[in-house]
Amino acid sequence: MKRLFTSLLFLLCAAASAQEKRPNILFIFADDHAYQAISAYQHPLKLIQTPHIDRLAKEGMLFTRAMVPNSICGPSRATVLTGKYNHLNGFYNNTNSRFDPAQQTFVKLLRAAGYQTALVGKWHLISDPVGFDHWHILPGQGIYYNPPMIKNGERMKHEGYVTDITTDLAIDWIKQRDKTKPFMLMAQHKAPHREWAPALRHLGWDKDKPHPEPETLFDDYANRGLAVRDQDMTLEKTFTPTDAKLTAPPSLNAEQRKVWDAYYGPRNEKFRAANLTGKDLVRWRYQRYMHDYLGCIKSVDESVGRLLDHLKAEGLDKNTLVVYAADQGFYLGEHGWFDKRWIFEESLRTPLLIRWPGVAQPAGVNHDIVSNLDFAETFLDAAGLPVPADMQGRSLRPLLAGRTPADWRKSFYYHYYEYPTPHRVRPHEGVVTAQYKLVHFYKPDVDYWELYDRQKDPQELRDFYNDPAYAKIVAELKLELARLKAELKVPTAPPREAFGNQPFDTEPRPKQPPAKKKGGKSSGTNP
Ligand code: CA
Repeated sequence: MKRLFTSLLFLLCAAASAQEKRPNILFIFADDHAYQAISAYQHPLKLIQTPHIDRLAKEGMLFTRAMVPNSICGPSRATVLTGKYNHLNGFYNNTNSRFDPAQQTFVKLLRAAGYQTALVGKWHLISDPVGFDHWHILPGQGIYYNPPMIKNGERMKHEGYVTDITTDLAIDWIKQRDKTKPFMLMAQHKAPHREWAPALRHLGWDKDKPHPEPETLFDDYANRGLAVRDQDMTLEKTFTPTDAKLTAPPSLNAEQRKVWDAYYGPRNEKFRAANLTGKDLVRWRYQRYMHDYLGCIKSVDESVGRLLDHLKAEGLDKNTLVVYAADQGFYLGEHGWFDKRWIFEESLRTPLLIRWPGVAQPAGVNHDIVSNLDFAETFLDAAGLPVPADMQGRSLRPLLAGRTPADWRKSFYYHYYEYPTPHRVRPHEGVVTAQYKLVHFYKPDVDYWELYDRQKDPQELRDFYNDPAYAKIVAELKLELARLKAELKVPTAPPREAFGNQPFDTEPRPKQPPAKKKGGKSSGTNP
């Protein structure tokens, strides 16, 4: 009996000490990965199986309402680092924004508190990374095959496929890290960003079986305003021959090119001979798009599997918080679109799965409104550090434990700026609640509101703003939008540079000197 008691006491003490040990953080971040393309999200079209990402759902929590405040790459990444909206971190768009490296980030705070910090893969914030003990990034958007990279300021070339290389670099860094310290590693994939080039081993992964089409592939944009009708992101009009793999990526070497040609060559010949037009052409493009996009997801899923296996092999799995997310959602043919940007569901929402042994409920599902604004605060909380008052999100720890605080956010502020290039989506802001979205399209040639009711119209095909039955809802949501803007310190009007290079603005802009480049150290151009 006494022996049993001693053993129990020992186990309890060991558990307590393990809990006190600060967890490692592995942040796996994909670029443009739509939740529709993760099997754990159980999308009705069942587009793909992602068994490795699904492991995180089984062993941790899956969030169904994770949202980004501005659905494009750079702004989302700036929000992750700072826990702030773009009007405070200064990174509004992918056209002319540059991340100010002097500002506070969760990475710097973790490092100052004794964490070893590293970043591999896609960065896309123009200025060089700061706050990392080690960084090894793709310049700009990066390329899929044989990508040049920059390691702590030094340019180098890699042979192979970008997702595999990023995974190798992540695992190599984990192996050689300073094991006396906890670590925070950001493993950030280029995939599945445009132009969706799969690993050569995944060409033909779908065995030419047709992918199911979304119901809204041929959306006519009726019952909605000019912004939705007049965008430039359709499979019909915007999809290029490069997107369609009718031309080969120039970075393939001769051997790789043979494999690439063997797959695409005969299929492209057949396509050209068919001389498709109209809906048939859109259908063909959708199939090619899904082959390529989902083919990229195959490699990302394998990467997650390799990373999780490695954590286990090193005995790190029990004390590592693992996050899988993307920088925003993406259209997989819904409304005839690819790309992102809108406050609408497919682009607003990002996949989010978190495994945190001892904290996150296994197989948990959370439907609260959460955001990439909350990552910085969650990581600081995990490290036992205070969350700075100027951060705008909240730690997800109570939600992971299944205890959502009563005062958790019930509404979410959204603001998209970049216009007109690259996809002519007009700037808009709005408020999102569990059921509604109130949107204001405000620039440059429009000024109108729309209201969406996801309960009545889950595919967001109808604007209810002028329906008298919704007058009270509209009034309430306008008040809520004003309240959120005050709380979040949103300026009355965005600065002119927020929209990009503003060719629609007739006022002359002051000429700016070209940004100075440090020799061989720039993290590259922003396409
Ligand atoms: Ca992105």
